[in-house]
Amino acid sequence: MATTMASRRQQSAFKSGTPARVHRNPFDDVLEQIDRAAAVLHPDPDSLEPLRHPRRQVVVSVPVMMDDGHLRIFEGYRVVYDNSRGPGKGGIRYHPEVNLDDCKALAAWMAWKCAIVDVPFGGAKGGVACDPLKLSDGEVERITRRYISEIFDLIGPTVDIPAPDVGTSPKVMAWVMDTFSMKKGYVEPGVVTGKPIPLGGSGGRLEATGRGLLFIMRETLKRVDRELAGSSVAIQGFGNVGSNAARLLHAAGAKVVAVSDVGGAIYDPRGLDLPRVSAYYRETGRLCGFPGTRKLDNAALLHLDVDVLLPAAMEDQITRDNAGEIQARIIVEGANGPTTPDADEILARRGVLVVPDILANAGGVVVSYFEWVQDRYGYFWKEAEVNERLEEKMVAAFDAVWNTRERFEVDARTAAYILAVDRIMEARKLRGLYA
Ligand code: NAD
Repeated sequence: MATTMASRRQQSAFKSGTPARVHRNPFDDVLEQIDRAAAVLHPDPDSLEPLRHPRRQVVVSVPVMMDDGHLRIFEGYRVVYDNSRGPGKGGIRYHPEVNLDDCKALAAWMAWKCAIVDVPFGGAKGGVACDPLKLSDGEVERITRRYISEIFDLIGPTVDIPAPDVGTSPKVMAWVMDTFSMKKGYVEPGVVTGKPIPLGGSGGRLEATGRGLLFIMRETLKRVDRELAGSSVAIQGFGNVGSNAARLLHAAGAKVVAVSDVGGAIYDPRGLDLPRVSAYYRETGRLCGFPGTRKLDNAALLHLDVDVLLPAAMEDQITRDNAGEIQARIIVEGANGPTTPDADEILARRGVLVVPDILANAGGVVVSYFEWVQDRYGYFWKEAEVNERLEEKMVAAFDAVWNTRERFEVDARTAAYILAVDRIMEARKLRGLYA
């Protein structure tokens, strides 16, 4: 199944311009994670088995008239992995190699994430196999409208709620909302999250993942008798997640000593002046060359002697080849899947604490939940209120994972899976089997 996972690499490459690498089917990883949690929980097999199967998998044809007057048929997907705790929730990905296995795995991870932060959603994911970088705005709009028409009966604010993902944006979410509303005959902002604010988007949504990471990092440091203020942090990736996390961490008093993008890293052991770095990045589109800093290559950033390493770029950055050289005491995963399973084992042996992605980067889905609540309520909160509620949710999730880790004497990642699987199995058990 190397090609399937290769596509997962391609999706990152698509965003970052980094070459794709070959890996195995991501859905195999999902099944392995379920087994890891089951090895500790020892559930009855009839409760466990349904978790190994997506609730619904849909493949649709998306015929679209291109700008040159030719018809092209794209393939679209939507998977709801689990909806025992609430409607499906998960992004729409536009990428040339998006496929059903990727959507199954990504939908399962959304289910685990929603269970860990305890929002009343299941997990879902979808996408269309297309390359938005090679399409006009009009073509992307027509693909979106036809794709949403094809899955119209399967989405909705109480059914399955999409959001942006790789290759899609708030603008695409506006078309999703409009298509769904036009077909319904009334305005339904709650069908999708990550919308522009004038259409019912939420304040604080854009920075939510970075802000969630700040809370998780602060709580992690507290548990090892450290404080965020003064702790040194190196951040890989300066996109939505990395740049917002860097800005917020700096403002909270952390010493961000290195940041990187696909072009390389900059380093100043005294701590970077983040507002000036961000302004430089906005003006020049690059980090390297920022005055008064040392240039490092991307590999060297990962080996820096810091309190916390925050990978916020792409998958498979910490592998068995470099895990032995990581000097950081703590890794907080901003990206999805930045640490490979074999690297995880090496880090555990070396006493490096890894805070897993499905907990650490869940701030985005938490504020998506708040957006949905505000849309359904028809009353919008101030951004400060959104941030305060985000903090409450992230701290509660952190405590739950930490307590599970101590109770079962496992690493934090296994604790997160245990918590998620247990919460989903409990919901399924309470609902019983509809026959
Ligand atoms: P993005 O495309 O905005 O930013 C990615 C950044 O990583 C860019 O700065 C790019 O230059 C950099 N990069 C790519 N390859 C690199 C490399 N080898 N070394 C150093 N930098 C490199 O993406 P994003 O939205 O910030 O997402 C980053 C990660 O976080 C992804 O794994 C994504 O799935 C995950 N994530 C994002 C969100 C969100 O709300 N955006 C939520 C949860 C998880």
